[in-house]
Amino acid sequence: MFFQRTLKKEISCVGIGLHSGAKVKLVLKPAAPGHGIKLQRFDNGKIVTTIPALSEYVVDTSLATTLGRDGHVIGTVEHLLSAFSGLGVDNVLVEVHGPEVPIMDGSANPFVYLIKTAGVKRQVDAKSYIRMVGTVTVNDGDKWARLGPQPPSSDASLSIISHIDFDHPVIGSQSYSFSFSDVSYDRQISRARTFGFLHEVEWMKAHNLALGGSLDNAIVLDEFSVMNDDGLRFVDEFARHKVLDCFGDVSLMGMPVIGVLEANKTGHALNHKLVQAVLAKAEAWEKVTTGEWLDSSTGSGFTVPRLVMDGS
Ligand SMILES: [Zn+2]
Repeated sequence: MFFQRTLKKEISCVGIGLHSGAKVKLVLKPAAPGHGIKLQRFDNGKIVTTIPALSEYVVDTSLATTLGRDGHVIGTVEHLLSAFSGLGVDNVLVEVHGPEVPIMDGSANPFVYLIKTAGVKRQVDAKSYIRMVGTVTVNDGDKWARLGPQPPSSDASLSIISHIDFDHPVIGSQSYSFSFSDVSYDRQISRARTFGFLHEVEWMKAHNLALGGSLDNAIVLDEFSVMNDDGLRFVDEFARHKVLDCFGDVSLMGMPVIGVLEANKTGHALNHKLVQAVLAKAEAWEKVTTGEWLDSSTGSGFTVPRLVMDGS
């Protein structure tokens, strides 16, 4: 049986907010079974709102995924949520001392490091999952995203296949396929950084956006090449980052998902549209709790999920 997980102890860090450019303190605290992931926004040391990491609180998906409640927002949540989801951590109270989660190096790896440094603790309650039994597709022009069931006898986990196509010599057409059960999120996904084009970065800065953006927290491309001195971490880092984003955005369903997600040229907006469409189509999924499905004789054919955690 798989159990819910939280952190062994509280841990914190300080980083730069991508859009504000301001320093933001982030504190991750252990939480009780059933608590889920919740984010608290602090202004001047005082709590102004507490927002569950659920899709119903998404208020903006234009540049990053932003949650909002009672008129207060917390931006750029997707890489942190991706790290929780990728490491199978269910219950955490996150304090954000500012308007957005710090961007760190533009990937989820610093959050993975933080979570591993705090340690992950197994709790007493069984874990519940959304298991896809039907397929849901959303479109936006030539972009589309589809979430459907895992084939019988496959691992009970989430597989993500991401396709991207950019008219740029370094990116071009890329696909990356990740199955949570057989490849490590930590090594293969978490290190992939967000990316942007120089002309977009210049436009955003001129409009007071991405004020904290730099070559320290994104891959930036000019017309022909990668501008970062160290180059890429993977040749297909762009497609891998899209998988990282999908993990974060899909975690806003509130439970880990058992299914296959295929995403073609998607961003946060379409990922969110998919999550909403799936939640609205109750016949396309069922809620299963680990004990029930392993003990039951439903003959689903699923094998026990394996959560991979590297020691690196
Ligand atoms: Zn991202």
